[in-house]
Amino acid sequence: MSEGRAARTIAATNGVAQDTAFGAVIAPIHLSTTYKFPAFEKPGPYDYSRLGNPTRDQLADTIAKLEGGARAVMTASGMAALDLALSGLCPGDLLVAPHDCYGGTHRLLSLRAARGQYRVTFVDQTDDDALAAALARNPKIVLIETPSNPLMRVVDIHRATALAKAAGALSVVDNTFLSPALQQPISLGADLVVHSTTKFLNGHSDVIGGAVIAADAALGEDLAAWANTIGVTGSPLDAYLTLRGVRTLFVRVEHQQETAAALAAFLDAHPAVRRVHYPGLTSHPGHGLAKAQQRGFGAMLSFELAGGLEAVRRLVTALQVFTLAESLGGVESLVAHPATMTHAAMDPDARATAGITDGLLRLSVGLEAEEDLLADLSRGLDAAARI
Ligand code: PLP
Repeated sequence: MSEGRAARTIAATNGVAQDTAFGAVIAPIHLSTTYKFPAFEKPGPYDYSRLGNPTRDQLADTIAKLEGGARAVMTASGMAALDLALSGLCPGDLLVAPHDCYGGTHRLLSLRAARGQYRVTFVDQTDDDALAAALARNPKIVLIETPSNPLMRVVDIHRATALAKAAGALSVVDNTFLSPALQQPISLGADLVVHSTTKFLNGHSDVIGGAVIAADAALGEDLAAWANTIGVTGSPLDAYLTLRGVRTLFVRVEHQQETAAALAAFLDAHPAVRRVHYPGLTSHPGHGLAKAQQRGFGAMLSFELAGGLEAVRRLVTALQVFTLAESLGGVESLVAHPATMTHAAMDPDARATAGITDGLLRLSVGLEAEEDLLADLSRGLDAAARI
């Protein structure tokens, strides 16, 4: 880790106490759109905030260090980060994407493909034969999302990125579900990492933002230049808030994943639950892999109710601590129904192929007391069982 400091030290203090104007310990927020030229034909370090901004750069520097990358580009949303990471694709180029990725990602790739901007093939990347067949078609980029949203499938990053490299493809890993506190795809071979910083990195559900982190400085420079050209760089206020969130990333995520493990065990033993998708359970097919490539199992899980859609309706209606809402990674616990919410944009066939059933619910576990969350789920499951 850079400067020889531990990642949690970087998260808590990178850039702290470096203000040269007043000695402010916490760096001030720079909202100015534009910057004075010290002399004719001589710009200073900053000239225009779409291109560069000190507050945004401090966040980018911190996230690049946390991910072990050469450079990060902060974008206005996670979707903008994904689109930026894939912006090198040209008409005819093939993109290999996960069949059970976030619904908005599926929509973006499908619509760009429908307009002929590139070709896309969605594959189950945990299936070695399917991945090998896709790589044999000479893709330009392999997009990986692990654990996947919402089924928590775990893809072997080291193996998939090595195979991508051997096939001459760039590898891009969406690390939103774990954050760099729990997984560093670049150390496992990824060329680019993308984040919806809206989630765990910010952690307080009050910013929409994204990041692309490049292992290679030159590729990072190219992406930064393109982000400026198309105008997708994030706002300074969002950067300020996100950096404040990053300060507590490790303690939040570590606590949240402990509670998530307890909830997963509870759900796994409940008769109204058909199946729990949580890599921390030894019964999860990706358990061993998750243990090897992650620093924990994360605070996201999903589960299928035996009673289908009606059981879902009853459960979410009975909940009092979990909030029925999209998004994830905040300090508050959320429950989402992927089929009608986060993944509603996917056509029903694609949802069925991915395994997203009407009885599936996704939980983002926050910082509430474990006993309150357990009691809430118990209340919901009792209601679900009364069909
Ligand atoms: N990637 C993943 C895994 C997500 O879950 C999301 C949003 O839920 C995104 C990307 C898109 O991020 P944003 O909503 O910040 O555009």
